[in-house]
Amino acid sequence: MINKLNHNVAGPATALDELEASEAPERTEVARRQPLRFPLVSAHRIAVLCDGFALPPTARAFRSSELSMVAAWKPDALVVPLNMALLLAGEKLFGDLKLPSVEIAVAVVTRVDDAPLGDHHRDLLWRAFQVPIFEMLASWDGSVIARECEVHDGLHVDRDVAVPTLRDEELLLTHLNDSTAPVVLARTGFSAELEHGHCDCGEDSPRLHRLTALRQSVTA
Ligand SMILES: [Zn+2]
Repeated sequence: MINKLNHNVAGPATALDELEASEAPERTEVARRQPLRFPLVSAHRIAVLCDGFALPPTARAFRSSELSMVAAWKPDALVVPLNMALLLAGEKLFGDLKLPSVEIAVAVVTRVDDAPLGDHHRDLLWRAFQVPIFEMLASWDGSVIARECEVHDGLHVDRDVAVPTLRDEELLLTHLNDSTAPVVLARTGFSAELEHGHCDCGEDSPRLHRLTALRQSVTA
C-alpha cells in the first residue's frame, strides 16, 4: 500500500506549488448547512450532536445537553464532535450512559484546527461503543471536507470544496467555499500522507492517511 502513496512531489505540478502558504485562518461559524453524508447507508436513526448539517429524514439533531432525549429516541448511529465522542465513551465505559441502540456506527467530526482522530481515540471509542468508527474532517468554517469511507482506507477529500497539498510533510489546504472568502493555501499544522487512485469503496477522490498534529509528531 505504501508504494501507492503519493507525497505530491511526484504529482502533477500546479499553480499552488508556487504559492507561499498562509497561516491557518480564524475559525468561523458554518456559513451554509451542508447535507449530512453518513458513511453507511444502513443507519436509519442518526442522532446528530453537531451543528452545520442539513439533515436527511433518517437523522435528528440534538444539543449536547439533551443526552437523555438522545437515549429515548434510540438512535442506531451517532454523529458527534471528537471532544463529545470521548466524553460519551468515558461515560459509557463507566456505566453512566446507556446507549444500547447504537449498533451501526459512530461518526466523529474532527477539525483541521483541533486534533485529528488518533489511534488511542479509536481504541477508546471502540471499547465503549463496539461499532465501526468513522472520521469526518471539518475545515475552519465547520464544513466537512474529507470523510472516512466504509472500507476505512483513509479520508476521501471532497474535491468540489477542498484541494489538499503536502509541503515539507505538512498538509496544506485550499478550501473553496461559495459563501465566504476561499482559503487559497493555508497551513493546517497536521502531517499526513496523500494517496491518489482508486479505493476499494469505489471512489477515486484523493485520500488522507495518518493525520497527525505536527507538534505531537515532533515530540513523539
Ligand atoms: Zn474509500
